[in-house]
Amino acid sequence: MNYSIAIDGPAGAGKSTIAKKIAKKMNYVYVDTGAMYRAMAVYFNRHGIHADNEKEIDSAVNDVDITIEYIDGEQQVFLNGENVTALLRTEETGKMASKTSKYASVRTKLVELQRKLATISNVVMDGRDIGTTVLPDAFCKIYLTASVEARTTRRYNELKQKSVICDFNEIKSDIEKRDYEDMNRKISPLKQAEDAILLDTSNMGIEEVVDRMITIIQSKKLEVDK
Ligand code: C5P
Repeated sequence: MNYSIAIDGPAGAGKSTIAKKIAKKMNYVYVDTGAMYRAMAVYFNRHGIHADNEKEIDSAVNDVDITIEYIDGEQQVFLNGENVTALLRTEETGKMASKTSKYASVRTKLVELQRKLATISNVVMDGRDIGTTVLPDAFCKIYLTASVEARTTRRYNELKQKSVICDFNEIKSDIEKRDYEDMNRKISPLKQAEDAILLDTSNMGIEEVVDRMITIIQSKKLEVDK
């Protein structure tokens, strides 16, 4: 049996940074599910597919093959055989991913891939529906969140550091919009699983969150190994 750790939460809560560190410390494989929705979005953008046309999306999904490989321990996402990992973090891709992740055809295809990955290795998987839908039997589920203000400030500072011109209020409204879409879609909306532990990181540093999570994971693991 493999061990799975599910980390869910809204955009900008620090899930991927933290999940990566946890995976390294635990010697688990990190699975970034947002990257899969983003890879789908790259396909839709490239083919001029409209995010609001479900029929067009359903038919396009049939032409998309997403696969995952690990190179030097880093997840690489392949779209119909092409490594698109470097293209995934743009605003354009993020927006398309957020608008199209509500469709059943998109989710069914990606959830199947995610579950398959969890049968191959011990995983730390992050996303929006991992604890509720993808891996309901994960031995440890953590719902990682932070206030909109804290998430906006982190994103703003990150962009400033990269010398990207940005506006605090615009970032804030994008985060609010994404939260709304993720939390209010019909299929697998973002919500805390009943058996997930809530961690609000608004006033916590990265290492503090990682340490707290490792303590939680270790105690959960002792429980399942009993
Ligand atoms: O986490 P990330 O920002 O990379 O995710 C991109 C988009 O994919 C999110 O806005 C969300 O709508 C969607 N997503 C999802 N379910 C997941 C992971 C991501 O719906 N498990």
